[in-house]
Amino acid sequence: MGFLADRILRIKPSATIAVTDKARALKAAGRDVIGLGAGEPDFDTPENIKEAAIKAIRDGKASKYTAVDGIPELKAAIARKFKRENELSYKPSQIIVGTGGKQVLYNALVATINPGDEVLIPAPYWVSYPDMVLLAGGEPVPVATTMESGFKMKPEALERAITPKTKWIIFNSPSNPTGAAYTRAELKAVTDVLVRHPHVHVMSDDMYEHLVYDDFEFFSPAQLEPQLYERTLTVNGVSKAYCMTGWRIGYAGGPEPLIKAMAMIQSQSTSNPTAVAQWAAVEALDGPQDFIPKHNKIFKERRDLCVSMLNQANGIRCPKPEGAFYVYPSCGGTIGKVAPTGKKLATDEDFVTELLEAEGVAVVQGAPFGWSPAFRISYATATTALEEACARIQRFCGNLK
Ligand code: GLU
Repeated sequence: MGFLADRILRIKPSATIAVTDKARALKAAGRDVIGLGAGEPDFDTPENIKEAAIKAIRDGKASKYTAVDGIPELKAAIARKFKRENELSYKPSQIIVGTGGKQVLYNALVATINPGDEVLIPAPYWVSYPDMVLLAGGEPVPVATTMESGFKMKPEALERAITPKTKWIIFNSPSNPTGAAYTRAELKAVTDVLVRHPHVHVMSDDMYEHLVYDDFEFFSPAQLEPQLYERTLTVNGVSKAYCMTGWRIGYAGGPEPLIKAMAMIQSQSTSNPTAVAQWAAVEALDGPQDFIPKHNKIFKERRDLCVSMLNQANGIRCPKPEGAFYVYPSCGGTIGKVAPTGKKLATDEDFVTELLEAEGVAVVQGAPFGWSPAFRISYATATTALEEACARIQRFCGNLK
């Protein structure tokens, strides 16, 4: 018997974090690397939010422990946000604040999963969902999608995947890594299936809600289908829309017993999310929202730039997604070809490794997202760097033999 727990042997390191760390290390070592790995906005946290945090420190509000599940002021701001933007009513006792969306999702799984419980995860999925389920002792069950369907789950595929052991579906629209976002009709087709299976709970990760383009209208599952309200955990956070990834504030609204169990886990593990970050989040949710459309205009231009330039690269096919700040092109047309190092590309991992080696562009391979051969680009980076990166990808693909 080894020293490490069996559950640790079930998981692997986060690929998004690994690529981001690798790009950072190569840059520090003096290499010319363009990092398109990290899924975080390149914009700085807006000034009013920073000022609110500084004021909270000065006023002595940041020094002490807070309520484990979040300060009442932030819970109230979250309740207003859910009502205003999603037509969802949550009492303070139905809301929890955590250290990033990640902690909220993880605690919800730990609070509910028994050995053998199945969790449906439409693929491609964010790398951390399956490993969180495994850590909680459950079984991740990918539900396949196709590029032709815009990486959106068909209701028939969902219906087929549900078993008596299904506890949750983790739903993420707009999606990390594909940027795919379900229209009202597409979401309705999914929620119609879920209504017929009352034992399936819905974990809706709405982190990219505000990052949608071309007049796309966002709906959260419990908003569109009130019959799902009692069994939905609506998860969100300030990281992406408010450029606050480093502050680590995520939150959720859901059934009171679940929220209570999640708070109990926090009370025995991390205690409260950082006090100063919570005060910053109050300002984010209650303060001016006008920078969001300004950022989105820039993100949309970058999306269009990436899609157009990647589709001109030999062997790459890149669909145009509705939201988030990712594109997820297939590199199927490059598999079997030979890179400048002499390495034959057999997998998308080979593709991204050789791309980094030859051109200094860091992207994340598709395999850990559950759909290959492909790779994820985060276009939340300076437009000039992005253009240069896409030109390098074109050159890399053009030089493959
Ligand atoms: N969600 C971001 C990403 O996918 C941040 C890194 C992570 O937590 O995975 O890149």
